Parts: sequence; C-alpha cells; structure tokens
Amino acid sequence: MSDLAGNVTTKPAVLILLGPPGAGKGTQARKLEDQFGLVQLSTGDMLREAVANGTPAGLAAKSVMEAGGLVSDEIVLAILRDRLSAPDTKAGVILDGFPRTAGQAEALDSLLAYSGQNVTAAIAMEVDDEAMIARVAGRYTCAGCGEGYHDDFKQPAAAGACDKCGGTEFKRRADDNAETARNRLQAYHAQTAPLIAHYKALGKLEAIDAMASIDEVALGLGTIVTRVSSQ
Ligand code: ADP
Ligand code: ADP
Ligand code: ZN
Repeated sequence: MSDLAGNVTTKPAVLILLGPPGAGKGTQARKLEDQFGLVQLSTGDMLREAVANGTPAGLAAKSVMEAGGLVSDEIVLAILRDRLSAPDTKAGVILDGFPRTAGQAEALDSLLAYSGQNVTAAIAMEVDDEAMIARVAGRYTCAGCGEGYHDDFKQPAAAGACDKCGGTEFKRRADDNAETARNRLQAYHAQTAPLIAHYKALGKLEAIDAMASIDEVALGLGTIVTRVSSQ
C-alpha cells in the first residue's frame, strides 16, 4: 500500500486468533504485543472485568460465563465497540476470543468498514479437544501482570515468582475446571468453528499447528503476521 505521495505505508493490522479454550490465544497474543507493538483485545478479560466491577453487562454475563456458555452478542459487541474506540488500538490489534459467532463476525466487518479498515487475517489455532481440557484445567495467571502459566507446561523460572513482574500471587479462573471446559468446547464447535469457513471464503484464513510448544507456535505466528502485515 502507498500514500498519496507514493510512500509505502502499512495499514494497522487487525488480526483474529481463532481457537477453542486453551488453544493458546492469550499466551500468543501477549507475545505478539511485545513483538509487533499490537494491542491484545480479549473479550474474556473485558467481561471478567465487567463482572468484577459489577456493571450491568457484568451482572448479565456472570452466570453464563460460569456455566461455560456464550455471552449475548449484544453485550459483547457493546464492550468491544467501546474498547476499539480508544486511541491505543490505532497501532493495530489482536482479537483474542472475538468474534465467536457469525453475528459477531458480521458486526466486526461493519465496525471496521466504518473506519476504512478490514480484517487483515484470521489465524485458526489447530488443536485437539482432549489436550485442551488439560491445558484449561492446569492454567493459572499472575495476579499482578496477567502473565499466563500452566501446572505442567509453563512454570515460572523461579518457583512461586512471576517471570515478568516478580509478583508472588497467582489466580485461577472459576470456569477453568474440566466440566465447564467441556461446555465451552461444545460452544466453540457449535458457534465459533464455523467462522473458519467464513474467513476462508473471504481469503483471510491462515492456520497454525497449536499443538506444538509455546515457542514453536510463537515462531510460526511471527512469520504469518509479518507476511500478512506487508500484503
Ligand atoms: P486461550 O487463551 O486460548 O484460552 P491460553 O493462552 O490461556 O489459552 O493457554 C491455556 C493454557 O495452556 C495456559 O496455562 C498456557 O500456559 C498453556 N499453553 C498455551 N500454549 C501452550 C502450548 N503450545 N503448549 C502447552 N501449553 C500451552
Ligand atoms: P477461553 O479462551 O479460555 O475460552 P475467554 O477468556 O476467551 O476464555 O472467555 C471466557 C468466557 O467469556 C467464555 O466462556 C464466554 O462465556 C465469555 N466470552 C468471552 N468472549 C466472548 C465472546 N466473544 N462472545 C461470547 N462470550 C464470550
Ligand atoms: Zn506477573
């Protein structure tokens, strides 16, 4: 792309990480933030904040999230629209956990079109279901900075202290248990997986083997993001 003076410019990227709970969306989104200066937008984090703050949206979302269902498009879209209007998102964004339904995907297209943007790429993180339950059940995060860890797959280098901020308090999500994780996987297959075909039809689909190690997935994603950002 070039501007009116013929200088090469790059449009801010709008990347979607598409994958079931536990695929590694949050883990990789944080790495892409560091590597490419993009901003991670996690609707799960936004909804958990709304629940913690007791906002009307949070009150409506709480029980649905606890059961592992999907929060209504109306609530999720209102929260995302708000967040996308903040100036820090102008550098480009990684959507983590959004869109999750056909309605959200269409709303995103309209929202972006309004500001002359479009989706750069949707990256499907390919994983197998049983491994996802184990990933979700062993997940915990630093209470200070949000860095993600896993009982078996990613421990802090110094036991009990966060690699990123040195914090010593960690937390687990109430919905990260095997039973709720199964409901969340079902919701993924029923409502979110069909979006893979949607982005394929638009010529926007990329895919990565997300069963590989965290570092290998990060390497592969870095290559994809570099390529799609320069197209
Ligand atoms: P998502 O955001 O897709 O739900 P997370 O990024 O939170 O997934 O990852 C789920 C859990 O699995 C976390 O505990 C994380 O440390 C771990 N994890 C992420 N990617 C991998 C991987 N490639 N291999 C093993 N464990 C991983
Ligand atoms: P994970 O990637 O591990 O499934 P998230 O943090 O993305 O977890 O989401 C946690 C919960 O928040 C979901 O199970 C769902 O109830 C709700 N949620 C998050 N994003 C959306 C969305 N885009 N649409 C509907 N519900 C959502
Ligand atoms: Zn930390």
